[in-house]
Amino acid sequence: MPPTATLEDIKAYQHKVEKDNIAPDNLPPCPRCRVESEFFKIHAYRERRFLIIIEMLIKAAYCSLVRFKCPGCGKTFTNYPDFAIPHKHYTRPSITGFSASYLNSEDITYRQALMVDGSVPGYPQNDATLAPSRIHRWITTLGRLTQTSRTALILLLQENPVSSICRNLAQVVIPQRKYKTKKRKKQLINCRQLMIIKAFFQATFKTSIFTKLAIRHAFG
Ligand SMILES: [Zn+2]
Repeated sequence: MPPTATLEDIKAYQHKVEKDNIAPDNLPPCPRCRVESEFFKIHAYRERRFLIIIEMLIKAAYCSLVRFKCPGCGKTFTNYPDFAIPHKHYTRPSITGFSASYLNSEDITYRQALMVDGSVPGYPQNDATLAPSRIHRWITTLGRLTQTSRTALILLLQENPVSSICRNLAQVVIPQRKYKTKKRKKQLINCRQLMIIKAFFQATFKTSIFTKLAIRHAFG
């Protein structure tokens, strides 16, 4: 099974939107006027296209996202379901899953990391398959979530001060063939560390860092 959100995940979220069950309280406070997000009001609904993988085919699925408005200054904020990452059409399980395949193996290429049972997910309209450059961009995106990583690490160490996590994070090494610049090396390390923190966080708190923490940090 390729990593992906399912049609059921997307339908379940749509159902919550329709039942008015989306609360703004996971969002960060307004950066302009510091009003807490619990006071935000529903502003608009916007249909969003997601790309999910069904039996190795990339298919579009649509779901409404809720935009909230700060009552203090009128700034608007999108509330994302936990299968979404802002500005990405592929779902979070695909983005983290394929990126992890690439990072977890020493000598794998982007293309190999996209393979599931010997083939790469493709588009139903033509012969094209998921492009290897996607993983490059997904890792860039995930490597930017440094505030989320930092907060998650603080919470983990508060919960278990003798956790082995710091040792695990310090041991992250990226094979030299995977980068040409220092900047890229840093992105790869950040992303790999995010994956480790994500696994510890899930095991410790039984929830994903993407459910609240990443949203709270506005995916920073
Ligand atoms: Zn405001």
